[in-house]
Amino acid sequence: MNDLIGRCIEATAVCVRDNADLLTRLDQAIGDGDHGVNMRRGFDALDEQREQLAGLTPGEALRKAGMTLVMKVGGASGPIYGSLLMAMQNLPERPQAGDLADALQAGIEAVGKRGKAQPGDKTLLDVLVPVHDTLRAGLAEGLTGAPLAGRVKQTAAEALAATAPMRARRGRAAFLGERSVGHLDPGAQSAQLLLDTLCDQLVRP
Ligand code: ADP
Ligand code: MG
Repeated sequence: MNDLIGRCIEATAVCVRDNADLLTRLDQAIGDGDHGVNMRRGFDALDEQREQLAGLTPGEALRKAGMTLVMKVGGASGPIYGSLLMAMQNLPERPQAGDLADALQAGIEAVGKRGKAQPGDKTLLDVLVPVHDTLRAGLAEGLTGAPLAGRVKQTAAEALAATAPMRARRGRAAFLGERSVGHLDPGAQSAQLLLDTLCDQLVRP
């Protein structure tokens, strides 16, 4: 398990580093252009704590990682991503996909409360909620492993694309009103990238 925590941290930190410019460009279009820098600061900090986090239980690691993101990411997305991870802390020692779905559900509720956001507001919730629904539906069908991860990745990509026609109702983009239409939400993009990376790590042989 420790190994998996370490791999997830390393892979997500690389992902954020590789995509920081993309996140910045998206936030320049409908925000203040700092989402890439914010996320990079947070995930570089997690990467620096990798060994320490990998020595914890999955739940403790998520709680601690969430606290780090609150402190390091800043902006709106720091408290949002931080609340998400901290609310996912009730995991067993060896989590199964159903445990991850329960944790994600708790995380989504925490994000909604923290940001007063709902699906359709053009935020990262517009990726997290469909992903949670797909995870539940896949589990109900008896899917596991790579087929389930593939379904989740596809949903995340489609859900991200669906943020473009939305009008932002939360965060800085909301100030743009109608002018936020036609752009992907930066937080939805970071959520999709992170989920994609995590799916690959979780089903790696
Ligand atoms: P800031 O908006 O403070 O500059 P970032 O640029 O790092 O912070 O993050 C912007 C992203 O945070 C948005 O694209 C959106 O997905 C998410 N976000 C902003 N406000 C909220 C909110 N109230 N609820 C949920 N998510 C939000
Ligand atoms: Mg910003």
